[in-house]
Amino acid sequence: MATTKRDYYEVLGVGRSASADEIRRAYRRLALQYHPDRNPSADASEKFKEAQEAYEVLSDPERRAQYDRFGHLGEGGFGGLGANGFGIEDIFESFFGAAAGTGRRQRVQRGADLRLDLQLSFEESIFGTEKDVTVPKHETCERCNGRGIEPGSTPVPCPTCGGTGEIRRAHQSIFGQFVNVSVCSRCRGEGQLVFDPCTECHGQGVVRRQKTLRVTVPAGVSDGTQLRLSGEGEPGPNGGPPGHLYVVLHVQPHRFFRRQGNDLLLELPINVAQAALGAEVEVPLLEGDTVPLDIPAGTQSGRVLRIRGKGVPVLQGSGRGDLLVRVKVMVPTELTREQRELFRKLAATFGDEVSPQENKGFFEKVKDAFGV
Ligand SMILES: [Zn+2]
Ligand SMILES: [Zn+2]
Repeated sequence: MATTKRDYYEVLGVGRSASADEIRRAYRRLALQYHPDRNPSADASEKFKEAQEAYEVLSDPERRAQYDRFGHLGEGGFGGLGANGFGIEDIFESFFGAAAGTGRRQRVQRGADLRLDLQLSFEESIFGTEKDVTVPKHETCERCNGRGIEPGSTPVPCPTCGGTGEIRRAHQSIFGQFVNVSVCSRCRGEGQLVFDPCTECHGQGVVRRQKTLRVTVPAGVSDGTQLRLSGEGEPGPNGGPPGHLYVVLHVQPHRFFRRQGNDLLLELPINVAQAALGAEVEVPLLEGDTVPLDIPAGTQSGRVLRIRGKGVPVLQGSGRGDLLVRVKVMVPTELTREQRELFRKLAATFGDEVSPQENKGFFEKVKDAFGV
């Protein structure tokens, strides 16, 4: 799936600014190297397919631009939202293209894509959520079904083309008569003219509406992740399939937790006695619960302890990363009279040694190091 797919540029071994020619040469080289007919090794056919797919996208300027902008998400999107690989509209378009069964002469185009920003809390990005978003977009006018014609009114045949939608001009040449066919510019190939535009959409066929959509955010998304909602973009002109809606996620930072890949980082303050003697402490989890954690005796500030399976759920996968607890030993800034007394006694046993296990004090070691 999208997360495990290699970057197409990396597959071909070219830079992001590679020219069409460089891309073609790189693909040719790999195809020769990995073609299953030439290369019997086990992963050759896999490599060959990978190169083929990368070349297919990067050799098409439109698909390359899309890939540069959205990465693999631009082609697919998330399971459940955009299905895998290509959306049904893409397949429709690639198979039926201009024809699209309308019998008309103009090319059927997919509607424009829309982009929307969505703010998420840190917790929502980790555990997933559902959000309602309001999208201002054009919708096919219900009154006229997108035709732009007032219901009940009859369009009249275009006088310029006689209702055929095309203009034929005959040319004589030395080879005989040629007929040049072009789309009628007056009716734009419709073959008919409308004198009563729809009162709702003023003949546009579309109306502007605020549409509320429910967006399912999967667990484990990060800042900048884009979700594709297939067919929720602008409607396609002339009955074409609608564009897509891309929802760009923005994740707010958390006060205590930070994210590092699929792991969560948490700084946990402990006191000097807990660090020296060891202790069992409760560690807060992002989901609101706590888990016990053993601080070993002699723990230094900055030591990282791992709690397995309490990190970020793997996007589109199973399992979770770990919670990494960075211990911070806090030196007390205020002491009660009793604590001060105890620290004095402790200080007397330490002398000027930093760590009682080691037989030399810090200053002696420094002196040794400098040979003074
Ligand atoms: Zn016409
Ligand atoms: Zn209308």
